[in-house]
Amino acid sequence: MRVYNFSAGPAVLPEEVLKEAADEMLDYNGTGMSVMEMSHRSKAYDEIIKTAEKDIRDLMNIPDNYKVLFLQGGASQQFAAVPMNLMKNKKAAYIITGQWAKKAYQEAQIYGEAVAVASSADKTFSYIPDCSDLDIPDDADYVYICENNTIYGTKFKNLPNTKGHILVADVSSCFLSEPVDVTKYGVIYGGVQKNVGPAGVVIAIIREDLITDDVLPCTPTMLKWKTQSDNDSLYNTPPCYGIYICGKVFKWIKKMGGLEAMKAHNEKKAKILYDFLDSSKLFKGTVAPEDRSLMNVPFVTGNEELDAKFVKEAKAAGFENLKGHRSVGGMRASIYNAMPIEGVEKLVAFMKKFEEENS
Ligand SMILES: *Cc1c(COP(=O)(O)O)cnc(C)c1O
Repeated sequence: MRVYNFSAGPAVLPEEVLKEAADEMLDYNGTGMSVMEMSHRSKAYDEIIKTAEKDIRDLMNIPDNYKVLFLQGGASQQFAAVPMNLMKNKKAAYIITGQWAKKAYQEAQIYGEAVAVASSADKTFSYIPDCSDLDIPDDADYVYICENNTIYGTKFKNLPNTKGHILVADVSSCFLSEPVDVTKYGVIYGGVQKNVGPAGVVIAIIREDLITDDVLPCTPTMLKWKTQSDNDSLYNTPPCYGIYICGKVFKWIKKMGGLEAMKAHNEKKAKILYDFLDSSKLFKGTVAPEDRSLMNVPFVTGNEELDAKFVKEAKAAGFENLKGHRSVGGMRASIYNAMPIEGVEKLVAFMKKFEEENS
């Protein structure tokens, strides 16, 4: 039996995709072998990775002057790769909206001067700071954001005013959840294990002029975007199987109607949960309403023992991974693209019942 999996990541994938992968496990498309067993230089694999790239380009409407790279090392590896590839003046502006942004900021300090130009740490990252008129150093090489804050459940509804600087965004937990205007960014990247595929793959969408040989001297060959770009993500053996699953998820999203349809589906799901939180006498959302994420929904009862009881009873009822991140406590429901609407409806029904029994 499959459970409703509210994990923040690795997270739920479309059942259809998993079934298709199972069907192809022993013999992919008449090759007589699994995708896990084939050469990354084979004709069959070449088609898998090229089709995946084409499909994500279609979905996100990625302009020709952007490269799509399939990389390894998790989103965290890009915390270093970003400054290594972009810090020509050894200075960058970071907006600190949670732990992932903070980790990226700390990593960048190894390579140059990372300046925190805004932060929401004063209220436990429960909101997105006003980024319309920040004091960004003129010589900053880029402005960095974590667009959806997985742990705290906030999302940038408006991109910061970068005052002409390049925008770099970690979109790990909002990847392909709604349409984006790629032209507003210099670099968009994300680990795929939140919304797109199995852990281990990072997709980076990078404007071509930012991919150069002019990188910090300490940059390892593997972390130089130019190495990966010149080799169409096949400089070394890529995470072949993970990319194959991502490709299937792209096809699934296309079939569902693309990113506009995903957005409508995600808004509908999030509304069910937020409306309940706003009306509940027991449960409360923890985020400023205007900054609420469609993907990660943290909530509390205000009583730690009751929180623990809820998580335990929810698990027994088939709702898994509702415990909040260890740094914030409470609960968090991650309702990524592949979470069906019934999952959220049933969760809310369960929460109502729990509220009646415990008040
Ligand atoms: C999960 C997550 C990361 C870390 O991803 P890894 O692939 O484990 O390195 C980074 N940023 C955000 C926004 C995340 O949600």
